[in-house]
Amino acid sequence: MQRRWRPENTVRGELRVAAFARSLAYVVVVVVCALSAPTGAAGGAPADTVSFTVVALGDTQYYTSFFRDLFFEMTWWVSECAAPDALNTAFVTHLGDIVHRGNRFHGDWQAAAYGFKMIAVAGVPHGFLPGNHDKDNTRPDGDRFYEYRAAFPLHRYDRYAWFGGSFGGRDTRNTYQLWEVGMHRFVSLHLKHHPGSDVLRWASSVLRTHADRTATVSTHYAGTDCSDEQLGASPLANVSTLPAIDPVYPPMRALAAEHCNVLLVFGGHVFGCGGERATAVRNRCNGTAHVLVSNYQDRGRAGNGWLRYYHFTLPRQPQATGEVCAYTYSPRLRRFERDEDSHFSIDLATGARRAGCTHALAECGSRYASPAFVLAWVWIASVDVLFVYLLVMLLAAEAPPVSAAACVHRP
Ligand SMILES: [Zn+2]
Repeated sequence: MQRRWRPENTVRGELRVAAFARSLAYVVVVVVCALSAPTGAAGGAPADTVSFTVVALGDTQYYTSFFRDLFFEMTWWVSECAAPDALNTAFVTHLGDIVHRGNRFHGDWQAAAYGFKMIAVAGVPHGFLPGNHDKDNTRPDGDRFYEYRAAFPLHRYDRYAWFGGSFGGRDTRNTYQLWEVGMHRFVSLHLKHHPGSDVLRWASSVLRTHADRTATVSTHYAGTDCSDEQLGASPLANVSTLPAIDPVYPPMRALAAEHCNVLLVFGGHVFGCGGERATAVRNRCNGTAHVLVSNYQDRGRAGNGWLRYYHFTLPRQPQATGEVCAYTYSPRLRRFERDEDSHFSIDLATGARRAGCTHALAECGSRYASPAFVLAWVWIASVDVLFVYLLVMLLAAEAPPVSAAACVHRP
């Protein structure tokens, strides 16, 4: 007897297939994760030093809006390589333009929040800030950061011990984080794109309160990526009545010059001259702050997963010596970029910057296909299985019963 199709049979069937697909996805991910122990380790550093990494993600706007697999691959790589026997990642900073379409909560902002969840689950302190693309200019009520706040609500970050606070206690547009590695203590400020004077006054007060900590400042635009020669080649710069173009965004220069604990200022946003530049700012204590611009959004495939990370090698006791080494790496391409503005080191004793690094660092990452990619693939496949199953069920329900009479050949 033919089994009658009922809607509840399909729903039960869908649930069984969906549950099976989820279980399958989970098993596959667990197996792949177990197989894919990080291959890299922080090698070469002497035993009397402590080494750790700060990752800078910038301008992920095209990934979160159009190439989400790449964004998940990057954030997965960050979480996977955060382990103490790999990069020992102590902090992750995002330099703004998290999404391209600030008004799309479903999809774009959800993808951004999911990527950051991977970093949070790995237990790595992190900060972020809104760039010019993270605004919603279409809302009738004029609340341009409605979606940003919904994706990154203050109450989610307030509960972390490393979360220092926010400007006005309002939201996560301007925040600071307090984190430590051994005896080395840091404060990391995150300031929105083009912060106003009130935000800059607050940033100054945070840096003053935590003057005993080494400071990093992240903002969307910290300075240009063009070299002095490229700036000099600009027709505007040849007009003698115009002041010389400052490669550092003046409010960031002022912060770095005033507060002697500022060591690194991170920025993104610009890409016209290749998206990378390092500049030094002299502070009032005759020390050096380094303004480090990195943005890869104009490379192929929305940036091809290129990111910047800084590996610190410091003496165990807090002293003004040690080395910070900059690496430019793509987990997708599994390649380093090694030219002078992509791979360089900063000598903390002298403030000097030079190409290459003293301490070699092995590559970190999965030996097998990225689990994030496998997860995306399994999810897509399970949706496909569900679709085919539903199609078969519907066709079986709609098709008229085949009778013996229908098969009789009629002339
Ligand atoms: Zn931007």
